[in-house]
Amino acid sequence: MSESVYDLVIIGSGPGGYVAAVRASQLGMRVALVESGPLGGVCLNVGCIPTKALLHSADLLDEVREGKRFGISVEGLNFDLGGAMKHKDAVVKASTDGVGYLMKKNKVEVVTGWGRLAGRGQVHVRLNEGGERTLSGKQIIVATGARPRPFPGVEFDGQRVLSSTDALRLTTVPSSLLAIGAGAIGVEFASMYRAFGAEVTLVEALPRIVPNEDEEVSAELAKAFQRRGIKTLAGARVEGIDAGGEQVVVSLTDASGKAQQIAVEKLLVAIGIAPNTENIGLEEAGVKRNARGFIETDGFMRAADGIYAIGDCVAATPWLAHKASAEGVLAVEHIAGLHVTPLDYRKIPACTYCNPEIASVGLTEAQAKEQGYQVKVGKFPFSANGKARVLGQSRFGFAKLIADRQYGEILGMHLIGPHVTEIIGEGGLALTHEATGESLVQTIHAHPTLHEAIGEAAHALEHGAALNL
Ligand code: NAD
Repeated sequence: MSESVYDLVIIGSGPGGYVAAVRASQLGMRVALVESGPLGGVCLNVGCIPTKALLHSADLLDEVREGKRFGISVEGLNFDLGGAMKHKDAVVKASTDGVGYLMKKNKVEVVTGWGRLAGRGQVHVRLNEGGERTLSGKQIIVATGARPRPFPGVEFDGQRVLSSTDALRLTTVPSSLLAIGAGAIGVEFASMYRAFGAEVTLVEALPRIVPNEDEEVSAELAKAFQRRGIKTLAGARVEGIDAGGEQVVVSLTDASGKAQQIAVEKLLVAIGIAPNTENIGLEEAGVKRNARGFIETDGFMRAADGIYAIGDCVAATPWLAHKASAEGVLAVEHIAGLHVTPLDYRKIPACTYCNPEIASVGLTEAQAKEQGYQVKVGKFPFSANGKARVLGQSRFGFAKLIADRQYGEILGMHLIGPHVTEIIGEGGLALTHEATGESLVQTIHAHPTLHEAIGEAAHALEHGAALNL
């Protein structure tokens, strides 16, 4: 058993852990990164990156189906899930290889094995290749992430009761799929497998799909999904799941109180995540967890003396890759004694890659009102946006801005429509710089672009009407 001394030992190499390692190395620290699986964590291996790769195949397929209106007809259009999976696997490999390259470039020592806190400043690693090592770290960052949460009493079997990880590995397109949970995972897979040809049902306990988004966004997505043939049941209570027969049978009570039984080939359970905070020595180290097992930290991500925690294993939401990376940078810069301030969690953008896409940052209209703001709203539909028409994607979607009536500050930006995940950056910048609606009006938006919709929404916000509507 060998011992090594580091300035920083990080457990977990997802977008929290590996980004923290890079930043620590840039700041002159000697860093060890402990990882038992492939580099990159959920995001790169079985999360953000592979899902978006498959969703790109789904979008292309839908575009080709619509090809005629662009003068393109394809005889005998074929979709090969294996080919889509191959593309996904190549993208994952390039991304995880990239993390390996970054670790080498930044002289971060990757220790492959299961890490566990083992007394002050010590991480014990059970090496994958056999044997053990103890790493001494002046500081330790726990970045162990989270995993899909099963439906109570029903285990994932990888065959018929699927987690998001399983749904990325199917070899054939199921004839029917029911997703429980209409958060990001539920709607992304519903969108994807519908495009691939499955009959899709989406079941959500809360009264609307994507319940964290602005209410108008939920309503717009429900309309778009209906047109795409995705059946949505919001406000439904799942009463039981029988996965013992040929098909999976889901019994539920729908929003009207009617009992329904739906039999499907595959069931996707997408009801949130459980943190990976067991068997890593947290209790002995004095790290506190909330009732659901997520680690409690202060605003600088400190969880106990000499221990920081970041990313999906931490209680602070949203659980998103870019939040994990931002927390990693914050923790490392705090360790380095730089002047840092806690993250403002209200200003973290969220992007969901269903068709149509959703992107938002800041308060929803309802949240702003709840918080006591006198709210004003500006909205502009993509049906009046030239670029959306060029793309043939102007049927659904809009840009919506929420501002404080008193000072004009932008409080939230909510987008649904084509490629909106690429244009929400303007919202992040607006919120970070406490921009007003007037400053968005003064920002000249190039023509023809999708982000003109944001400029138009700003006109509607400030002048009571958009220009091109
Ligand atoms: P989520 O918390 O976003 O959504 C889960 C949904 O399931 C909620 O709407 C909830 O009301 C519903 N639900 C819970 N129990 C239910 C039940 N018994 N019956 C019906 N509905 C039920 O979680 P997720 O979609 O599983 O995603 C997990 C995490 O990963 C989230 O933090 C999410 O933000 C993140 N993620 C993000 C992206 C992205 O940013 N594009 C993509 C995938 C996942």
